[in-house]
Amino acid sequence: MKKSIPIARIPRVVIVGAGFGGLSAAKGLAGAACEITLIDRHNYHLFQPLLYQIATAGLSPADIAAPIRGIVGAQRNITVALAAVSGVDTVRSEVIAEGRRISYDFLVLATGAQHAYFGHDDWAFYAPGLKTIDDATYLRRRILLAFERAEAEPDPIERRRLLTFVIVGGGPTGVEMAGAIAELANRALASDFHNIDPRSTRVILVEAGQRLLKTFDPSLSVLALQSLQQLGVEVRLGAVVTGCSCAAVFLGDERIETRTIMWAAGVKASPAGAWLGVDADRVGRVRVGADLSVPGHPNIFVIGDTALAMGVDGEPLPGVAPVAKQQGKYVADVLRARMKARPTEPFRYRNNGSMATIGRKSAVAELGGIKLSGFSAWLLWCLVHVYFLIGFRNRFSVALNWSWNYITFQRGSRLITGISGSRIEDVTRENTIDDSTRLQGAI
Ligand SMILES: Cc1cc2nc3c(=O)[nH]c(=O)nc-3n(C[C@H](O)[C@H](O)[C@H](O)COP(=O)(O)OP(=O)(O)OC[C@H]3O[C@@H](n4cnc5c(N)ncnc54)[C@H](O)[C@@H]3O)c2cc1C
Repeated sequence: MKKSIPIARIPRVVIVGAGFGGLSAAKGLAGAACEITLIDRHNYHLFQPLLYQIATAGLSPADIAAPIRGIVGAQRNITVALAAVSGVDTVRSEVIAEGRRISYDFLVLATGAQHAYFGHDDWAFYAPGLKTIDDATYLRRRILLAFERAEAEPDPIERRRLLTFVIVGGGPTGVEMAGAIAELANRALASDFHNIDPRSTRVILVEAGQRLLKTFDPSLSVLALQSLQQLGVEVRLGAVVTGCSCAAVFLGDERIETRTIMWAAGVKASPAGAWLGVDADRVGRVRVGADLSVPGHPNIFVIGDTALAMGVDGEPLPGVAPVAKQQGKYVADVLRARMKARPTEPFRYRNNGSMATIGRKSAVAELGGIKLSGFSAWLLWCLVHVYFLIGFRNRFSVALNWSWNYITFQRGSRLITGISGSRIEDVTRENTIDDSTRLQGAI
């Protein structure tokens, strides 16, 4: 399709983001005659699909993350740079990162997505989302502290508020979080406290649409709903959040008293579109062509959650890990072809299916025309997730933890971190802080 760009020396490929897309592009260029600079603001690759297990004390952060240098260390043509990119100078073909300018012949932007609050960014204070390890450990702290505070709380109304958890968004993350909090309360914490019964915890899942897991077959949405209800989760379909505060979620006129809200309702793309000054959609995804390059910039590619790429049905491809990974591999192939002036085929996404888990032994899965639910889907979900984790240590550790959790009903990672002894009093107030304090940035 596109002609190769004449370059006299070894081409310099800069990849921004070592998530699913960027890492796949970098690995796809192993052995290629190019110099790759892989830039990420973190020094680790994160397996985001299991973040909710950190937030609900099922796994530890190191189980689902791996150092980038360790992953690509053996690849001779890669230099890893730890830096946050803040712009791209397309005229001089340079990436701007913390005062450095890094030149490229080919640029791959794979910087993922971030939370979106539909124009209510102030809700982020009260309803944190789940995107990074820091988000997950913060949520874990909030959840575990709510139980600790409830144990010491004399006022029954406040105790009820502390033992009410609201999750906003009925996609896979919301469903998984709701199921995991319900199981944490009903099983792992059930006999840990003397003054409260964690089994009386309310977990409420709020979804604006008429069904959960809207990208799945409707029959699986119904099964997911039933599985959650069996765990005691209250599912509120067709309910739109109109406000959040430190003490409540508002659904129109209804006020649900809670100290812990979690946001799983929407994402927007990283600001790559603004860096390039190009066309982006409503949620900031950069429109890319059939070879995933940016129109007017044949040597710049955008992939993964940051890209707006169309499927064969003319619909945007979903923001999921397989899309990012396949796009990364595809762009690596395109770059190899371009370096040799060979033609390329357009990108085609192969959809191998979707899955979501509900609690410790139930899941729904859609694989081509096959639909699975219950224990068999859960076993498959476990196998797939262990298989796709990076590194033997992580696979072994996760498999061991899950087996242990399954047999004992325990959660070994119930650690409240991020507070030092002297600050415990202050931080335990996180769950009760009033609106004005929080808005002043006290947390
Ligand atoms: C909680 C959660 C659960 C999920 N569950 C599933 C699931 O079950 N199945 C599934 O298929 N998908 C799931 N996803 C979606 C999936 O994780 C994403 O679609 C996938 O990670 C996108 O890959 P990516 O390469 O585009 O971005 P990411 O994997 O997000 O990687 C982006 C990388 O860019 C880096 N970066 C960002 N900005 C900068 C910057 N300015 N400078 C330098 N580096 C930067 C980040 O540190 C990160 O390493 C889930 C996502 C979340 C958050």
